[in-house]
Amino acid sequence: MNQTITYRACPACEATGSTLVPDYSPAPWEIASCDSCDSVFLRNPPATEALEEEFAWEKTYTAKKEASRGSTVFSPMARKIRNGLKMYRDQNRLFRKWFGETGKVLDIGCGWGQRIAPPMVPFGIELSTALHAISDETMRARGGYCLHGAGAEAIWDFDPESFDGIVMFSYLEHETEVMKVLQGAHRALKPSGGVFIRVPNYASLNRRVIGKTWCGFRYPDHVNYFTLQSLKDVAARAGFTAELVNKITLPVDDNISVLLRKTQSHN
Ligand SMILES: [Zn+2]
Repeated sequence: MNQTITYRACPACEATGSTLVPDYSPAPWEIASCDSCDSVFLRNPPATEALEEEFAWEKTYTAKKEASRGSTVFSPMARKIRNGLKMYRDQNRLFRKWFGETGKVLDIGCGWGQRIAPPMVPFGIELSTALHAISDETMRARGGYCLHGAGAEAIWDFDPESFDGIVMFSYLEHETEVMKVLQGAHRALKPSGGVFIRVPNYASLNRRVIGKTWCGFRYPDHVNYFTLQSLKDVAARAGFTAELVNKITLPVDDNISVLLRKTQSHN
């Protein structure tokens, strides 16, 4: 059976030439490195609609881990919940510092809509129909709202310079239209605002040591495999300067966290 395959262009530089990385490409999926820049990506992703259900389940799981509270049972699950809660508090401390105590903050791929703590005002974009309904209700009660749709599309429906902060937490590795969503974020962000991004770290020691069993590989949901450099490069093309958040741990960290600020223009 012959099929004509059109490979996805590089998400960072839009070049069409890429080279397969065979070790990381279990059939039918093809992880490739760009021939023109240092991006690594899934070059034959399924359509967004096909991902919707899986995506919804994953977000539900993540949101549950982060939103659960009140357990006092000493068990692995309780420990996970405590760790999730600590992460939630630590993150929100940083969000308030960067975006302001009462900042308007957009969470792209917001799941249950619990990530942004009061008194910040939460806005969201969510692909799953069920989770969008939950998020929208929660966010409206706190002065914001949630749009239903794909991040790279829906972000253009907000007014320019609407937000003090935009959060892309475990989202950008799923997005086939990286440049489009970053440009949309640039437009939707106030001049003083910041964009927080957390993605798997393709350059991590773990990935280089354990190779194809690395936890960052998820087929086919992860469509971009960033290093700090490739993330900085794509952000720069969209008009941002990136500051690394997890400076000390990066080489051994399975994730990269950066804060983007709009690059100062000269006018
Ligand atoms: Zn490229």
